[in-house]
Amino acid sequence: MLIDCPHCGPRSNEEFTAKGDATAKLPAGDAGPEAHYRHVFVRDNPRGRHEEFWHHTGGCRCWLVVTRDTVTHEIFEVTTASEHLERQASGGKK
Ligand SMILES: [Zn+2]
Repeated sequence: MLIDCPHCGPRSNEEFTAKGDATAKLPAGDAGPEAHYRHVFVRDNPRGRHEEFWHHTGGCRCWLVVTRDTVTHEIFEVTTASEHLERQASGGKK
């Protein structure tokens, strides 16, 4: 699988480290221990299109959000994590 890093260009996924679900939301501070436990330790195993954090460990060391199909490994989009967060803050607009 090739990941097209916005800084380095297309690179083998072996240069990257998967860092988990980019859609998980941090629970509120007063949400209670069960909500925080689930956020840290309980993971979904989605099938199909999904947004994930990846770290370019063997390259620019940038945090990325890769939107890919978990079944076919087709990659739809790669953005920096900061761009992803800016989109979330603006309601998903590019
Ligand atoms: Zn890179």
